[in-house]
Amino acid sequence: MDKFLKRIKNNIQRKPFFQGIDDHIPEEAGGFVDSSVMPMNSPTRSSPHSQNSESVERFSRKVFVGGLPPDIDEDEITSSFRRFGPLVVDWPHKAESKSYFPPKGYAFLLFQDESSVQQLIEACITDEDKLYLCVSSPTIKDKPVQIRPWRLSDADFVLNASMPLDPRKTVFVGGVPRPLKAFELAMIMDRLYGGVCYAGIDTDPELKYPKGAGRVAFANQQSYIAAISARFVQLQHGDIDKRVEVKPYVLDDQMCDECQGQLCGGKFAPFFCANVTCLQYYCEQCWATIHSKTGREYHKPLVKEGADRPRAVPFRWC
Ligand SMILES: [Zn+2]
Ligand SMILES: [Zn+2]
Repeated sequence: MDKFLKRIKNNIQRKPFFQGIDDHIPEEAGGFVDSSVMPMNSPTRSSPHSQNSESVERFSRKVFVGGLPPDIDEDEITSSFRRFGPLVVDWPHKAESKSYFPPKGYAFLLFQDESSVQQLIEACITDEDKLYLCVSSPTIKDKPVQIRPWRLSDADFVLNASMPLDPRKTVFVGGVPRPLKAFELAMIMDRLYGGVCYAGIDTDPELKYPKGAGRVAFANQQSYIAAISARFVQLQHGDIDKRVEVKPYVLDDQMCDECQGQLCGGKFAPFFCANVTCLQYYCEQCWATIHSKTGREYHKPLVKEGADRPRAVPFRWC
């Protein structure tokens, strides 16, 4: 089981996936860790805390806080949580909006140390599985705000470990709501299409927080085709009810399925055709040949983009 999980993780980390639908992710979902919205600079990443705490790290250092008092500003949020350790307060489009207040009453706390998150959780009160902490603003005293930490183990879920994980039976799910766990994604997709063997929530390498996308691997071709043919899927779980996009998971190290590299100097195939009559990787030449045939002229290639571009996110802790 451990070995299997490790293989899945290696496979997924090594293989960049198609990211072209990231644009559809609404800001409510949490926004990306984007250097443009983070006020920072400093070499904190080289600090030893990450090595020391590796074995006991259980949560993302990024924590969602919702239901904030409307008149609480960034400095007041920072000082409300500063007792747990150094942190930066962020929210989507913070830099552009030039607002001192989180516009929708929620923000993200980016802690320097994972242990701060554990301390924060311990200080919370629990109500119906939700965590709350009281926070004060200039006009509102002791308002309970919701604290939503992300548990690292919720990023992967194996439903059927006896099936090999086939990247060619794996779909990319874009616009996944942030609180959705891999387990929940697996259950929803299994209910809709059957045959799910694995689901994963994509997290950013820096904070290990969900990026708003996921992957689901199926055990059989029919389920895979049913999922990509639907193109959109309604994710319903608890408070969540959202239509998200489903696409084949595109790999960047596949040979052309037509010529096996014969016509393209053995290079990896740049195109994938997601039409169910094709479902193949093609080099440029084979793409042109196959898609000049009647009925296939309108197929559109999927191209994996960007891959795992290293994202430099230097922080300044306060
Ligand atoms: Zn070819
Ligand atoms: Zn095609």
